[in-house]
Amino acid sequence: MPYVWWHSGYDLRCHAFAIDQAHDAARGYYEAVCEHSVPQERVEREQHGQLCTTCLIKVGTELPEEVRWRS
Ligand SMILES: [Zn+2]
Repeated sequence: MPYVWWHSGYDLRCHAFAIDQAHDAARGYYEAVCEHSVPQERVEREQHGQLCTTCLIKVGTELPEEVRWRS
């Protein structure tokens, strides 16, 4: 699944969010890969600031199912 990196006004870090959340306008909040959740009005839809380490690790190590089974 593709991700977007957005800045959270709560902890001033950049988190990875699953892209399908970005297309859901009815959502009241977004939930990052590291389970940090932030209300829509506190999200800046751009990447700046320090990247969240937990998100980086989770996104970086998440492999497609077929790749995982082969290795
Ligand atoms: Zn995060």
